[in-house]
Amino acid sequence: MGKPTGFLEYGREVPVENNPLLRIANWKEFSTPLPGEKLQQQGARCMDCGIPFCHTGKVISGMAAGCPVNNLIPEWNDLVYQGRWQEALDRLHKTNNFPEFTGRVCPAPCEGSCTVGLNGAPVTIKNIEKSIIDKGFAEGWVTPQPPEARTGKKVAVVGSGPSGLACAAQLNKAGHTVTVYERADRAGGLLMYGIPNMKLDKKYVQRRVDLLAAEGVTFVTGTEIGKDISASKLKEEFDAIVLCGGATKGRDLSIEGRELKGVHLAMEFLSKNTKSLLDSEHRDGQFISAEGKDIVVIGGGDTGTDCVGTSIRHKCKSVTQFEIMPKPPEARQPNNPWPEWPRVLKIDYGQEEATVLQGEDPRKYLISTKKFVGDENGHVKELHTVLIEWKKDDQGRFVPAEVPGSEQVYPAQLVLLAMGFMGPENTVLEQLGVERDERSNAKAEYGKFATSVEGVFSAGDMRRGQSLVVWAIHEGREAAREVDRYLMGASNLP
Ligand SMILES: Cc1cc2nc3c(=O)[nH]c(=O)nc-3n(C[C@H](O)[C@H](O)[C@H](O)COP(=O)(O)OP(=O)(O)OC[C@H]3O[C@@H](n4cnc5c(N)ncnc54)[C@H](O)[C@@H]3O)c2cc1C
Ligand code: SF4
Repeated sequence: MGKPTGFLEYGREVPVENNPLLRIANWKEFSTPLPGEKLQQQGARCMDCGIPFCHTGKVISGMAAGCPVNNLIPEWNDLVYQGRWQEALDRLHKTNNFPEFTGRVCPAPCEGSCTVGLNGAPVTIKNIEKSIIDKGFAEGWVTPQPPEARTGKKVAVVGSGPSGLACAAQLNKAGHTVTVYERADRAGGLLMYGIPNMKLDKKYVQRRVDLLAAEGVTFVTGTEIGKDISASKLKEEFDAIVLCGGATKGRDLSIEGRELKGVHLAMEFLSKNTKSLLDSEHRDGQFISAEGKDIVVIGGGDTGTDCVGTSIRHKCKSVTQFEIMPKPPEARQPNNPWPEWPRVLKIDYGQEEATVLQGEDPRKYLISTKKFVGDENGHVKELHTVLIEWKKDDQGRFVPAEVPGSEQVYPAQLVLLAMGFMGPENTVLEQLGVERDERSNAKAEYGKFATSVEGVFSAGDMRRGQSLVVWAIHEGREAAREVDRYLMGASNLP
């Protein structure tokens, strides 16, 4: 531990985010990195406490507490404090294949479990992680590392999101010949076509895909397994298959008026937007425009926030975000103690931007949509809503009850449904005859990752349901070790 008194001497400092009114004019990432000396001070704030929880990654009360990939956080904090950046990078890559992704988009459960955070502001772990890897690339320290020998075993990975990429990276490291199949025209999964560019610039996703390709991983894009190539053909040709197809079947809202024009699933809106941005900087017009419209986003989570930020960059007239749950508290409650994930009110970038533009937070809580009403052209024009309260039913379960007299009408020419995801798509799982769990995900025990079909494994959202990038990386790595063990009888993969 470099500086025992660091946490007493230095306050928490995070990168300055550009003025919302300036950053909404483009699709670029919007934080200005801290200078090296400031980062060293931030690293010095790590107490190297006796029992660090930041890297445990345990699930407590259904949420991750600590880092799910078990990053060696106190070690690299100390190395950064000492200015030993390249060693910090080596330490970081030991546990995380893609810190440039998590350093940008992870909600940082590590910080919620940081011991300094018990009675102060936690260490800026996520930003230090990002700074280490960004410096690594800038200094040319991150170079392709192809394996020295090949095993002769062939593995197909279906899906190129963070779980598929992490799995491919690890299996390639072990010397297997890996082919990643992706139905989209670009690799990256939701890193590419879910999370918007201002949160994660797509040049960083492509840079990592190119690096993996230079290490020997083959990427076959624009190819859907189960349609363009049958799953059974894949099974014949490969020694093992890892299904990393994600869980993006969107939850719909079957109410009156759902068929109206202008009511879309959030993923359609977000993915078309990024594709059009990358293909032609929106010149091709192949996206759903929010320009000049009143937008209602139904769903208060991260996907909803991305819809808010995207609508604002389209120059919408107004944006409102509906949340069916109550407003979270400003600070931890007694039933949500440290080191649990803090369930507190978050003001994310989209809400911050909307607040600056509209003078108030765009979120409305405890609200439910009863019907969509259209104009004479069959286009949505308004939403009819009611407020709800959560009450216990006969069996003690919380259920929503309408508040009498709370009906309201919201104008909207574009409605985006961001109410979560229902699970993976069926095609490949059905073709291979993979058993499903009660939530329709691929059934594969955590730790083993083997499905009910011999030689077929599954990882990431397809196995655990819609989750986080960091969990997907963790699962991809863990599944790779099990596949290696299956193919070789033993594995040296971490
Ligand atoms: C809008 C949005 C924003 C998010 N923001 C964040 C965030 O800020 N931070 C965070 O940690 N998490 C975020 N998440 C969640 C995170 O992106 C996912 O948990 C993560 O990407 C899951 O990784 P995965 O590899 O399991 O699947 P995915 O990333 O979903 O990738 C699966 C890939 O498989 C492909 N595929 C599926 N079936 C086939 C087939 N049959 N043949 C070929 N290819 C196939 C799909 O096209 C897709 O590219 C967000 C999710 C969404 C939807
Ligand atoms: S991956 Fe996420 S949880 Fe782990 S150290 Fe980075 S920000 Fe924290």
